[in-house]
Amino acid sequence: MDDEYRCEICGETNSVWDRPSGLWAEQYLLPVEADCWNCCAVNMLPDS
Ligand SMILES: [Zn+2]
Repeated sequence: MDDEYRCEICGETNSVWDRPSGLWAEQYLLPVEADCWNCCAVNMLPDS
């Protein structure tokens, strides 16, 4: 499932998405933090 968040620093919209973890397709990782593509600030993602 795609998701978006807004950078707390610069306000740019970043996209995050669930992705399969290696060969174990049943195991999905949702990152809890992500680097802004624009300013490289680390943003905490809301826990869904
Ligand atoms: Zn940013």
